[in-house]
Amino acid sequence: MAKKGIKSKDKAVKFKPPVVTVMGHIDHGKSTLLDKIRGTNITAREHGGITQHIGAYQVVVSPKDSPKNKRKITFIDTPGHEAFSMMRARGGQVSDIVVLVVAANDGVKQQTIEALDHAKAAQVPIIVAINKIDLKAANVDRVKEQLAKVGIVAEAWGGDTVAVEVSAKTGEGVDELLEMILLVADMLELESFDEKPLEAVIIESHLSSKRGVVASVIIKKGTLKVGDELYVDDIIGKVKALTDFKGENVQKVFPGDPVEVLGLKGLPGVGRNLVDKVSKANRAARKDEKERESHKELAQDDSERQVRVLNLILKVDTQGTLQAILAALVKLENEEVQIKFLHDGVGDITDSDVLLAVSAKACVVGFNVAIRVETEALAKSLKIEVAEYKVIYDLIKGVEELMKGVRKVDKFEGKGRAEISKLFPLPSGDVVVGVKVLQGKIKEGNRIVIWRGEEEVHQGKIKTLKIGKDKVKQVSAENECGILIRPRFDFSIQDVIEVV
Ligand code: GDP
Repeated sequence: MAKKGIKSKDKAVKFKPPVVTVMGHIDHGKSTLLDKIRGTNITAREHGGITQHIGAYQVVVSPKDSPKNKRKITFIDTPGHEAFSMMRARGGQVSDIVVLVVAANDGVKQQTIEALDHAKAAQVPIIVAINKIDLKAANVDRVKEQLAKVGIVAEAWGGDTVAVEVSAKTGEGVDELLEMILLVADMLELESFDEKPLEAVIIESHLSSKRGVVASVIIKKGTLKVGDELYVDDIIGKVKALTDFKGENVQKVFPGDPVEVLGLKGLPGVGRNLVDKVSKANRAARKDEKERESHKELAQDDSERQVRVLNLILKVDTQGTLQAILAALVKLENEEVQIKFLHDGVGDITDSDVLLAVSAKACVVGFNVAIRVETEALAKSLKIEVAEYKVIYDLIKGVEELMKGVRKVDKFEGKGRAEISKLFPLPSGDVVVGVKVLQGKIKEGNRIVIWRGEEEVHQGKIKTLKIGKDKVKQVSAENECGILIRPRFDFSIQDVIEVV
């Protein structure tokens, strides 16, 4: 598929390799698939098949339609949604695409649904790998039917999810899966911001008696070089050496690449962000500004009525109770507060539930289920509210209280802010800016200012807002849209638009 090369500031846009996490139910073949991909790719063969374990590896793919145009894909070596969500909970979402492995002989299982919910919450596109098709008991159609029931409809069935039939054991379908990953990556237009300040995510770390702190990272933005000064929260360091997954020393690495870094002065946690001086300063400025904002907002309290959402994760003891509780909770919804179930199911409250709760600031509600002490401690450390009940009446009252809490939170939401992620120049000379709304709402006619880092670079007005091809009047937090701002300006990716 040809890339849509838009021009930004007179330079052709560069794209980064997609970063992929493999998820799915236990024993469905995640590790076997990762091993197969690593074992059969060209890069590994060129290097005698020996790859180092640094938490992620890359394969080089020659797409069938343009074999000369070799492209890289980065695979995170730790499969499963727990690691994925732990990174996300700590601000280190790094995966661009999730490959959901479903064994064709076993079908959709509890952890398949969990993985799905985690990927959905992270808004990461899913490619389904229907695995073990070499087995006699494989039933691909049944898997597709089960997936459709949980809202994942394969393209072949008229939906928009790519599903590829593979055997991680024999290798059948694996090349097609790689091609599909590249296709989805093309649609995501993963721009490589290699000239931006550095942002990377820690994917593994350990202490070595010979080498000191060894941290594996994947670069999100910017270029990491030997000699760079680094920061991970309070840990500082200077890059002494960079080693890639082939065990080779490299001088610099770019967005989408995994690398092992030597030179940090402390052991950083998985999922933490590794940044350079400029990124660190930008982050601090943004944080201060946000705090000032929320104080101002509190004082103003314009109490505009809007629907708020209470995000819940619900775990109960039996399927029958689950249906009864869901039905009762849905009845609690009103004009002001609605309930969104990020995940609901039968079983104990697990680390996975707690981690899923973090980014959406959800509450975990349990009914007649257990929670391990370690999971409780995790929830506490991540400031996730876990409420356990033994009587349905109490659970309903408890959720009503949570809904009241959400209503109060309204006032803290702050005014509309959005970050520019894409630029679409029009023949007229105007530029439509593609944005993601970070908080509040942005509306047609809003007066806005544009921030570039700490500097206010432009003032204007929102002329039109579009989601896809449809004109809309307003767009709220977490959504993406295209906007036309007047007067014209030389907008740049990462500029922040703020409603005044
Ligand atoms: P994980 O828990 O999802 O990482 O699953 P594993 O990769 O450990 O695989 C579980 C079992 O399924 C192992 O015994 C694998 O050899 C087997 N397996 C994985 N993929 C395939 C496949 O495509 N075909 C067959 N027949 N067996 C497979």
